[in-house]
Amino acid sequence: MSGSPVAIVRKVLHSGDLGIVEKTGANDLQTLADRLAQQSICASLSRRFPKLTIIGEEELPAEETGEDLIENGQAEEILQKSCPAEYSGLKEEELVVWVDPLDGTKEYTEASRCLRHHTEVWVPHKGSVTSQPHSTALWLLDNVTVLIGIAYGGKAIAGVINQPFYNYQHGAGAVLGRTMWGMPGLGAFGFQLQEVPGDRRIVTTTRSHSNKLVTDCVDAMEPHEVTRVGGAGNKIIQLVEGRASAYVFASPGCKKWDTCAPEAILHAVGGKLTDMHGNAYRYDANVKHMNSAGVLATLRNHEYYVSRVPPSVLQALKSD
Ligand code: AMP
Ligand code: MG
Ligand code: MG
Repeated sequence: MSGSPVAIVRKVLHSGDLGIVEKTGANDLQTLADRLAQQSICASLSRRFPKLTIIGEEELPAEETGEDLIENGQAEEILQKSCPAEYSGLKEEELVVWVDPLDGTKEYTEASRCLRHHTEVWVPHKGSVTSQPHSTALWLLDNVTVLIGIAYGGKAIAGVINQPFYNYQHGAGAVLGRTMWGMPGLGAFGFQLQEVPGDRRIVTTTRSHSNKLVTDCVDAMEPHEVTRVGGAGNKIIQLVEGRASAYVFASPGCKKWDTCAPEAILHAVGGKLTDMHGNAYRYDANVKHMNSAGVLATLRNHEYYVSRVPPSVLQALKSD
């Protein structure tokens, strides 16, 4: 995934013309980058693997995908790994691929506005308005990821998270972007697994889709610290790189394409992703897209966080 879709996400940002469309409202956006990256990923995958079931976030008109959007590359370092025995006999037609072509679209659009108009944005972890618009925009860009998850028998069995703007801070000469991927039973790659030091409970949650239930649930975890960052993919990165202990989102809003790839990677390093009741989500082709009962993800101590979920949340968000 180092080629086309990710290059598109960067190119559209730099063009300054995002082509923003509101889906269900002002907090549910789609940009030209979401549309083109999805076309690129889905067309490239189905050309190579025609029997896959591929489910992408964006509803797009059926049209021919231009050759310039087709990604033909393959990552040798991934192909050299041996597939765990339990997955080696799977057939293409049994796999469901969940695609979020751009996760953190809200932050992507804010970063673009910030870069163009030099406006100021509240930076959650600094707890104040920053007077450095450029660094704020960069911080927001790191919230953006491209997510591809693979499911078999309803379970997330492999996931890729690409962070297209990773390293942006390091100037023009820096290599931009990184790919993190994982498969339970094989391992996780492209990052250094770290845990939050000591027994600190650092809870990460949404910065742009909050409500009272979300904040009540975060408070009920008795966190030592709360960070509000964009994107489901980015919040899982916080968990596996030791910047957060739990991702707590007591609301509908996240969909299967947000959680499939993150869940597989988290699982590969011994973590867990469930709804607020502690029940697993399924990723079969015919499931409801919405994760109606919220998202609770941890690297360790999942039971603690499940046990702290208040009755009001359990009542409001029923498991499927
Ligand atoms: P967030 O943590 O707010 O960045 O959300 C993580 C993912 O879930 C993103 O893909 C969001 O677009 C999606 N999401 C969460 N809440 C909502 C909502 N209320 N409406 C639309 N999308 C949402
Ligand atoms: Mg998303
Ligand atoms: Mg998206």
